Amino acid sequence: MTDPAPTSEPPAAPHPASFMGEPSPDGRFGEFGGRYIPETLMPACIELEAAFRDAWADPVFRAELDGLLRDYAGRPSPLTECVRLSEETGVRILLKREDLNHTGSHKINNVLGQALLTKRMGKQRLVAETGAGQHGVATATAAALMGFECVVYMGEVDMVRQELNVFRMRLLGAEVRPAHSGSRTLKDAVNEAMRDWVATVETSHYCLGSVMGPHPYPWMVRELHRVLGDEAREQSRSLLGGADPDVVVACVGGGSNAAGIFSGFADTDAELVGVEPAGGAAIGRGVPGVVHGMKSFLMQDEVGQVLEAQSISAGLDYPGVGPEHAHLAEIGRAKYHSVNDDEVLDAFVTLTRTEGIIPALEPAHALAWVLRERASLAGRTVLINLSGRGDKDVAQVMDIMARRS
Ligand SMILES: *Cc1c(COP(=O)(O)O)cnc(C)c1O
Repeated sequence: MTDPAPTSEPPAAPHPASFMGEPSPDGRFGEFGGRYIPETLMPACIELEAAFRDAWADPVFRAELDGLLRDYAGRPSPLTECVRLSEETGVRILLKREDLNHTGSHKINNVLGQALLTKRMGKQRLVAETGAGQHGVATATAAALMGFECVVYMGEVDMVRQELNVFRMRLLGAEVRPAHSGSRTLKDAVNEAMRDWVATVETSHYCLGSVMGPHPYPWMVRELHRVLGDEAREQSRSLLGGADPDVVVACVGGGSNAAGIFSGFADTDAELVGVEPAGGAAIGRGVPGVVHGMKSFLMQDEVGQVLEAQSISAGLDYPGVGPEHAHLAEIGRAKYHSVNDDEVLDAFVTLTRTEGIIPALEPAHALAWVLRERASLAGRTVLINLSGRGDKDVAQVMDIMARRS
């Protein structure tokens, strides 16, 4: 006698891991992503994809990267339970402490991975774009560590606004080149960096700073930040007796720190929430469009001109968002909200006063959403990705507070 045929399929996993698995062979997450690039860039993207795929499957490469993340960047970063803030809000708040990494944010995970990949590809020159300067500093740091040449493109306007980071990059041995075109900000710096890469691809790697751009970047950069999501999942399970947080929250500029933490929880029941600045809400206010080699949500005017993003936090001033976030929003696996500058300042001060942690203005967006939603989140456990520390922002906050008093 044979076993009776099963009467029903086994229950499906609540969220298939493929939600944050590989994109399609042409680099798409649903309808978003892809490779909208000139013919001259195609070989470089194809070479890079093959090199990353090969490296990522190689235990020797992984061990070398893990060693750098541990001994140079300081991983794993801790998970901190906010006792006083939880008491005050009625929400159990946990922080993934990416602020404690070397150079002060999650960005080091990505640049160390790409720098090691550069070495593996036999190249010795890094090209990067930067807006607020943080990714430029991180890239210049990795270049100094590896002994690479480093050129960072930065909008002329941003160079004036962020002169301290320009100095840091130069101190680290990088050349900072002003982008003179367009609005002379981040999106123009991306264009210049891509132009440089096309011309120097034999010797250079373009170290892109977030989960955006043409395939393989959105996928590769997310995989390089997966380490923070994997750590957070293990750490929160050990703290919560095997359970996952109810909600996982991260700020979204291009979306790399959010992609990193979401990737640790995509196949769990945790709700995923991305928080954008009200003045740069690519998902909240944007429309599908093509920029910087990818299709995603973008802030555009009626004739399709890409708009300037505006927020208190220069690190979130990107008018687009990574294509995987556009996809996660469309299928409803992640929800995206926005907060305004006043709410962010409030959150900045609140975390500082109650926990003795000065956050960067970017992750203060994530906390601002939690504080606003405290009534609906009451009694639940919320994990926030504290993507960076606030040392870089205290002078700006001091100015704003002085003007207001
Ligand atoms: C750069 C930066 C961000 C924004 O970048 P994502 O790619 O959206 O993560 C967020 N937080 C900090 C601290 C940053 O430095």
